[in-house]
Parts: sequence; structure tokens; C-alpha cells
Amino acid sequence: MQINDFIEEVKKLGIYISEDELKQLEIYYNELIEYNSHTNLTSIIKKEDVYLKHFYDSLTLCKAVDLSKVNNMIDIGTGAGFPGIVIKIFYPHLKLTLLDSNNKKTKFLEIITNKLSLQDVTIINDRAENYAKNNQDKFDLCVSRAVAFIDIIISLSLPFIKKEGQVVLMKGSIINEKRILDNHLNDLNINKYQIISFNLPITNDERNLLVIEKKDSNKLYEYNQILKRSKKWNSQ
Ligand code: SAM
Repeated sequence: MQINDFIEEVKKLGIYISEDELKQLEIYYNELIEYNSHTNLTSIIKKEDVYLKHFYDSLTLCKAVDLSKVNNMIDIGTGAGFPGIVIKIFYPHLKLTLLDSNNKKTKFLEIITNKLSLQDVTIINDRAENYAKNNQDKFDLCVSRAVAFIDIIISLSLPFIKKEGQVVLMKGSIINEKRILDNHLNDLNINKYQIISFNLPITNDERNLLVIEKKDSNKLYEYNQILKRSKKWNSQ
């Protein structure tokens, strides 16, 4: 995706990019490629691919949530900062927590947040199931892109949000996952969910945003769900 196409497509999401934001993305791209030359962060490295599959794709979160109204957000398994850092560039008021269990990735997150002078960003090098222990019911929004299978990522995400908060999972195809979701709504502590489906420009790749609201804020129940699901995850 060329820069002009990026600007046009992002405009369709309701975002009018400033010169400063474009510069921030340019710095982000250069740092990503530099760090990636010695430490693996992403297999997507061509500039037009990064702008489409990382930068634009991260911003599609706007289709699900009015981010101007969100106060604090956690991005679980953020990797090199997708979608969290991209969202923070365009919504600087957000208090952002970036969580990843891989310390090479969280080191990159330290570098890039400093380089971009981003304020109110907390970087945590931990597993979501550990960090959830002392951080339940804390966030308005919990997002993740391409981290784990549906029941696991839902169990890991719901404890972080306040009763009235939302979880948004950013995914590719979800045919099998939707079946699991429908069969386990109660068990997973879901009040209701919505799926927003669309295709990426240029490649036409399928994308789905799963927007989930939780039923109850029961810390013990939610924490037991994490333990149950993460045990299953670790044994896979
Ligand atoms: N969200 C990023 C993106 O879309 O480019 C990275 C996706 S990558 C496929 C999955 C990331 O989740 C990795 O960086 C991995 O270290 C992290 N991760 C996996 N399990 C995790 C866990 N239990 N807690 C925290 N991070 C985890």
C-alpha cells in the first residue's frame, strides 16, 4: 500500500492523518526494520506491506470502538506494538498498557515508545495469565491481534475489563471459532458479542473484529477460567 493509498483508506475509517502522524509512522517503520534486522519481530518488512498489514490493519479497530471515548486500553500479546502503538499515535489521550511475554519484543517497545516520545504507555513483560492476577476489572478496552485460539484469548482478556468494558479480538477467518463461541457463551462468561467483517484493501484478505461484552465481574470465576484454559493451551 503506497502512502497516498494509505492516507485515503484511513480517511474512510474517519481518520484524517496529520503530517506529524505520518512522520511518527515513518520513524516506527524505520525502527521496526532496523530492530528486525537482528531480532525477529515480524516477517512483514516491505514498506507497502507494513503500511497495509500492520499500520492500516491496526487502525481498523476504529470500526468496532469509538476510541476517542476510551480512557484506558490494554493490548495483550502486542508483539512489535500492533495494534497498540499505532492506535496510540492517532489517539494520544489513551492510557495504554502493552503486554507481551517475549522480552525481545518488550525491549523493542521500550525503544519505539521513547523514540516517538509517547506518554502514558506502560510496557509489561509478562504472561497475560500472570498479569491478570492483580489487574482485574481495570480497563475500558482489551484488544489483541492474532494471539491465541478463541476460547483461550477470551478467558485471558475478559478479566482485564471493567463490567461495562469491551474486548475486541482482531482476527482473520473465524469459521471454526464462531462455532465454539456459540456453544460456550455461558461458560466463557459472555453477555453478548458482535462480529464486524470486512476485507483489507488491495489484498482483499478477510478480517473479523469480535466485539465482546462480559456477563459478570466475578474475579474468582474469571481467574479460574484463565487457569483452566491456559492449562489446555500449554498442553497443546
Ligand atoms: N499482536 C501482534 C501482531 O498482531 O503483530 C503480535 C502477534 S504474535 C502472533 C503473538 C504475540 O503474543 C507474541 O508476541 C507472543 O510473545 C505473545 N504472547 C503469546 N502468548 C502470550 C501470553 N500468554 N501472554 C502475553 N503474551 C503472549
